Amino acid sequence: MISHVLPTYSRADLAFEKGEGAWAIATDGTRYLDLGAGIAVNALGHANPDLVAALTEQAGRIWHVSNLYHIPQQEQLADLLVEHTFADTAFITNSGTEAAELAIKMARKYWYEKAEDRIEILTFEGAFHGRSTGAIAAAGSEKMVKGFGPLMPGFRQLPWADMAALKAAISDKTAAVMLEPVQGEGGIRPLADEDLRLIRELCDQTGALLILDEVQCGMGRTGKLFAHEYAGITPDIMMVAKGIGGGFPLGAVLATEKAAAGMVVGSHGSTYGGNPLACAVGVRVMQIIADPAFLAEVNRKGALLRQKLEGLVASHPDIFESVRGQGLMLGLKCRIAPGDLVKAGYAEHILTVPAADNTLRLLPPLNITDDEIGEAVARLDRAAGRLDG
Ligand SMILES: *Cc1c(COP(=O)(O)O)cnc(C)c1O
Repeated sequence: MISHVLPTYSRADLAFEKGEGAWAIATDGTRYLDLGAGIAVNALGHANPDLVAALTEQAGRIWHVSNLYHIPQQEQLADLLVEHTFADTAFITNSGTEAAELAIKMARKYWYEKAEDRIEILTFEGAFHGRSTGAIAAAGSEKMVKGFGPLMPGFRQLPWADMAALKAAISDKTAAVMLEPVQGEGGIRPLADEDLRLIRELCDQTGALLILDEVQCGMGRTGKLFAHEYAGITPDIMMVAKGIGGGFPLGAVLATEKAAAGMVVGSHGSTYGGNPLACAVGVRVMQIIADPAFLAEVNRKGALLRQKLEGLVASHPDIFESVRGQGLMLGLKCRIAPGDLVKAGYAEHILTVPAADNTLRLLPPLNITDDEIGEAVARLDRAAGRLDG
């Protein structure tokens, strides 16, 4: 008999009833050190007092109003996003997938308004942009698309980080190039800064729009507010979600005025997108994470965690191959199935997340403490010890 919850997930036998910072407390009272953070969502930890205050204060006033009216909290969030990024404008969504859908629509509409027949969007293997029919067509992975055809046309996947393939594929018929500066689900695979600069250059030469998906790598995760800042370039359109809500469902599409030119009244909308509750939380998250002093701490902690992980790799050469990633978006490339390590981690009371390319993902809350970083690596060391041959 089918479970009452549609069985699309293979779930661990764990449930949590409370959270405190980097700790998730299971229904049996066991405290788990949470290095998954709801897959890069709980960027400021569980039950963060600032976010609880922002949410409850707003909850006592007004939860939902339609986008038929002005929503001051939404305007404040858009102001902050514009102030701290390349963007001139923002549309607030409830998720990363919704942001991906709008980013694709925006790029198509841009060329439609120019009366140019450019619909092809170049994407990359290993990408993840969400689970809608459009987003799975964009990523094109066999596992995600199988059985859901016919797929939305207009996407072409290129090998990840293959600049020769991109040079050969891009032309003045290309509508856009869409990618994650650091692939998350794909296995914490960062693109080299010079490659991102080259992609920007190729887009400029051909007129193609550059769409960056910073749903996972954005919002301070890599130690910059957005990962593309390392390369010193800016996109035309960018998707944001996950960390921006700190656990409340929230996303956004940011765009330049030029790229957003086609998105006129009536061209897009959302019932819940930009509601006061979500935006009140998003504003508080942005105020905390966009602070340069906060980002400097993410970098310092990222370096500390990385250094300890290098030691872990050296002590378990049969289990781990290398460390990769930036800031607090780190991956351990494994020599064994990362799912086995996730399970061994449960036994040591630490939560981690597997990813493709045999990678174990470590995405702690950005405000994890130094002591907790030390404790996390000690637990990972014991988890690996359980699997050492
Ligand atoms: C999680 C993710 C998405 C999808 O976001 P949802 O909120 O799950 O819809 C899109 N792109 C990237 C890079 C992601 O990591």
